[in-house]
Amino acid sequence: MSGAKPIRVGINGALGRMGRAIAAVVQESPEVELAAEVDVGFGAPAAFREACDVVIDFSSPAGTLAVARDLRGSKTALVIGTTGHAPAELTELLPLAKDRPVVHAANMSVGVNVLLATVAEIAKRLGDAYDIEIVEAHHRLKKDAPSGTALALARAVAEATGRDLAKDARYERHGVIGERPRREIGIQAVRAGDIVGDHTVFFVGNGERIEVIHRAHTRDTFARGAVRAAIWVAGRTPGYYSMRDVLGFSSL
Ligand code: NAD
Repeated sequence: MSGAKPIRVGINGALGRMGRAIAAVVQESPEVELAAEVDVGFGAPAAFREACDVVIDFSSPAGTLAVARDLRGSKTALVIGTTGHAPAELTELLPLAKDRPVVHAANMSVGVNVLLATVAEIAKRLGDAYDIEIVEAHHRLKKDAPSGTALALARAVAEATGRDLAKDARYERHGVIGERPRREIGIQAVRAGDIVGDHTVFFVGNGERIEVIHRAHTRDTFARGAVRAAIWVAGRTPGYYSMRDVLGFSSL
């Protein structure tokens, strides 16, 4: 990197848990410099387009859309880590990728992205005789449920086994629920204390089970991933990319 100008990074949601963790990583990385910090808590609307080569968004679904609108007509790259977007919000985000490179990932950790590929492979090999359940646990302040990562894991196993989440996902059980349909994918959320983020995928057959567990110990793992994505995406060809592209796992 010697002689190269640092990539100018903006953070949307700068006052949040992730925003603060990302600012700390940016400050210790010579390839990037902190060019703008925006948060509703500062009272200012998004204003990134002149100042930044890349904006990292860890805010709220409305916050992602505010950035998207602010960046219209610019080439500024975007890294979206925010989760919980409604389908209509995702539809509004997609055209962004025509003008600029976008990395959008519900989880920026290396481990979870390996997990996504691994659970798809396990699901494919085990087939319908094994029931699939996903349990996630997060801190009490998390706003969306289930987590974006749990949904990404559910999508990965559904795609690998030809299931349709619109039909086969089961988000809660209560009362007399009857027998479990074979192709159901259960997705349950625990909210408690200060848990950074745990995900377990169960594959349970008759007489045995596999449990694949990922536990994030610290938000730094997501923050480092977000900064790595920003460095990777700056100046790239316009398009919608995943964290697996950033990490070079696309062929897993
Ligand atoms: P947080 O509540 O601590 O922080 C969010 C910040 O965004 C707050 O300071 C809030 O004031 C600000 N904000 C909200 N709406 C805004 C808007 N319209 N414009 C500007 N700022 C706005 O939450 P957090 O724990 O930092 O998580 C933020 C998001 O990132 C959540 O959606 C969470 O699920 C997601 N997340 C993703 C990953 C990943 O790896 N992709 C990891 C952890 C968290």
